[in-house]
Amino acid sequence: MAHNLRVARDHAGTARTFAVVKANAYGHGLSRARRAFAAADGFAVLTLEEAANLRLMGVEQPIILLEGIFGVDEIAACADLDLWPVLHHVMQLDWLQQQPPARPLQIFLKFDSGMHRLGFPLADHADLIARVQRLPGVAGVTLMTHFAQADEAAGVNWQLQPFLSETAVHGLPWSTANSAALLRYPETQGAWVRPGIMLYGASPFADVSAAQLGLRPAMTLQSEIISVQTLKAGEGVGYGQLFRAERAIRVGVVACGYADGYPRHAPTGTPVQVAGRISQTLGRVSMDMLCVDLSGCDDAVLGSPVVLWGEGLPVDTVAASAGTTAYELLCALAARVPVEETD
Ligand SMILES: *Cc1c(COP(=O)(O)O)cnc(C)c1O
Repeated sequence: MAHNLRVARDHAGTARTFAVVKANAYGHGLSRARRAFAAADGFAVLTLEEAANLRLMGVEQPIILLEGIFGVDEIAACADLDLWPVLHHVMQLDWLQQQPPARPLQIFLKFDSGMHRLGFPLADHADLIARVQRLPGVAGVTLMTHFAQADEAAGVNWQLQPFLSETAVHGLPWSTANSAALLRYPETQGAWVRPGIMLYGASPFADVSAAQLGLRPAMTLQSEIISVQTLKAGEGVGYGQLFRAERAIRVGVVACGYADGYPRHAPTGTPVQVAGRISQTLGRVSMDMLCVDLSGCDDAVLGSPVVLWGEGLPVDTVAASAGTTAYELLCALAARVPVEETD
């Protein structure tokens, strides 16, 4: 993970880097991420609880709350813990006005430049910035927006240009870049960049691999073969007998299922590495097990290692085959999976 942070910082130019560690650091564990990203300029989280945990772990860098405060009751903690909330709707401004924090906060004012999810309309920038700068609870303002298609051909310009040209008059620092923007569009750097997925060694792009971007997988999900079956032609395996053998075939049963976070909707043919060779899943994924094709893996036996994703098998490849993204697979890693740290 530390290696991927260095790659991100190389792309960041003079911008400072928030390591995005929401969702339990994309499934990697908050405290592990805090250690790996000790060199980050700041951390980005979703909830007050995550921010408080980072402070308890000794984090001294800035911490941004990506959706800001969810109620007036969270303002005091922002002051106590020195957190930087995003403000994206008027009620949050009202709360700050009603209950000014014990010490003024750095805030990120979020504008909607086209994603139409969170943020104030760009057209309201002059009034809003004036209002926020008058609030006694506000020490400094950074302008922010988020891209809807930084990873796609449509890119960022259709959002970046209006955002920058509308708000330039204020001369305030700004922040726009997620991983995809950081990697592909240096003009999005601003004062702070906000990489997430790339720090965990997955690619934000469907058409560029993590290895091509110089990223290394942070998580390897591995297990082993706990049973070997030989199917005769016509016999099926697993629930629904979704896979049926056309000829005699050896099948390995792997101790990993959807209760571990492996996607149940991964179809037959999803890549998996068995005893060092790329093979494929067969049939339906069950709660605690899945089945793999052992043809061509003659040396695979009971106890042979299986990599579901990670080192040797990019999580992006598995995600593509299962019709999802690395984001979803990594975040869904279940708490029951034992974690072994290697660096
Ligand atoms: C999650 C998030 C990011 C990180 O996005 P990646 O695609 O994982 O790099 C950046 N900014 C905001 C506002 C986010 O919510």
